[in-house]
Amino acid sequence: MGRGSAGAEPSLGQSLFFNHITVMILPKPNRLTPEQLSELTAIVTEFGCKIQPIVGTVRTIYAIVGDERHELMINRLEGLPFVDRVDTIQSPHKLMDIKSDLATHRVRVGSVNLGEELLVIAGQCTIDPKNPNYFLETAQAVKEAGAQALRGGVWKPRTNPYSFQGDARSLEILMDASRRTGLPVVTEVMEQEHINLALDAGVHVLQIGARNALNYSLLRQVGRAIAGRTTAVMLKRSIHLGPLNEFISAAEYIAAFGNPNVILCPRGTQPGLDGYRNHPDESITPLLKERTWAPVVVDPSHSVGKAAYVPACALAAVAYGADGLCIEAHVNPSHGIGDDPKQAVTPAALADIISQTRAVYALRRGQPAAARA
Ligand code: PEP
Ligand code: MN
Repeated sequence: MGRGSAGAEPSLGQSLFFNHITVMILPKPNRLTPEQLSELTAIVTEFGCKIQPIVGTVRTIYAIVGDERHELMINRLEGLPFVDRVDTIQSPHKLMDIKSDLATHRVRVGSVNLGEELLVIAGQCTIDPKNPNYFLETAQAVKEAGAQALRGGVWKPRTNPYSFQGDARSLEILMDASRRTGLPVVTEVMEQEHINLALDAGVHVLQIGARNALNYSLLRQVGRAIAGRTTAVMLKRSIHLGPLNEFISAAEYIAAFGNPNVILCPRGTQPGLDGYRNHPDESITPLLKERTWAPVVVDPSHSVGKAAYVPACALAAVAYGADGLCIEAHVNPSHGIGDDPKQAVTPAALADIISQTRAVYALRRGQPAAARA
């Protein structure tokens, strides 16, 4: 997993985002020593501020939280021999901005550094706690098809609240599949208890679903919970056709607690395109990439909502610049639950999608033909 470890969980009573981070301290070394950090903290404390480290793969930058406008404080910080500069960042999403000092940060999922290799996450929409073997077989099959991470819904937000909402026992099945295959796992969390259980169990990527994409209390809980860990978060785009900055700012809100391992996941918006479950939005990727360094993993399954349309959407997503795909797959879709009977592709179809999208990925990056196989 990524190396976004931020040390101790921030003890801030409120989020950085609400405090309008405008000032970042960029040190000369990649990270400050504890003594240098204490020196920095002593200065800002005199002015009623705090320091929040934001830990990237290569460097750590230090945000000032509080009223950061004191000129004398800034002058004293700039005078420290280990401080390169103190930057005021104007972007509405300062940490996730393409110009942020975190732009060199790489989010890592299992063996894949996003941005260096196409990541394919695949697995069932929903784990059926009564039929664990389906999930265990699916996990093995998606691994054999070439997926590098496994998805499986434990707790489910549903279109109809009276539909099956998941079962905590499925978490054991998910982690069992992870141990057997060696694949990192992604699962959706919807409340603090899910977050605690998932992190305790060792889930590698927490998913925030489209229905909760703008649930700022949940984003805050997730941001706090993953600070100081290597866990990543996959943030789905909200269901409504929201603006780009809304999406990136929601990611920023999670990262502001100290762990920048946030992945953006377009998954189609509403109203849907007649015939599709949602309106496919994989073409958003180049626009996101002009503004943010955050990796983009597209979910074609929820976008189009029907297995037969998933391959084309996956190919389009990679052509548009996606760093990865999250695809619902099942060894026996018609015996699945949740979205699986209509949306899940079979392992054979997944293997085709993976080889074709890898070829497009290589083509897009101008790699030699041999790498496209
Ligand atoms: C899911 O991934 O199964 C899911 C419910 O996704 P979304 O939040 O995008 O609808
Ligand atoms: Mn689903």
